[in-house]
Amino acid sequence: MQTAIHPKFFSAKVICSCGNTFNTQSTKSEIHVEVCSKCHPFYTGEHRFLDTKGRVESFQKKQEKAKQYKTIAKNKTKVHKEEKNVKSLKELLGES
Ligand SMILES: [Zn+2]
Repeated sequence: MQTAIHPKFFSAKVICSCGNTFNTQSTKSEIHVEVCSKCHPFYTGEHRFLDTKGRVESFQKKQEKAKQYKTIAKNKTKVHKEEKNVKSLKELLGES
C-alpha cells in the first residue's frame, strides 16, 4: 500500500469578490471565488446581471435598425402597389 499519497487537508477560508467569507474544508487553505450564495442573483432573488461589452445596447440598436428597415420595406411595397394601379395604354385609350 502506498503511503503519503493523500494531499494535505485544510480548513479552508473561501473569500468572495463581494467581501463575503466562509469556512469549509479543502486541499487549499484559501479559495478566492467571484460569486457566492450571498451575492449570486439566484440566491438573492435580485434580477441583475453584468452587461459586458454593452451587448444589450448593441442588440437594442440592431432592433431599432431592423424596425427602420421594415418601415422602409413597407413603404416600398406601397409604392409598388400604387404603380400597379397605373392604367395601361389600352385602358387609357379606351377611356377617351
Ligand atoms: Zn459573494
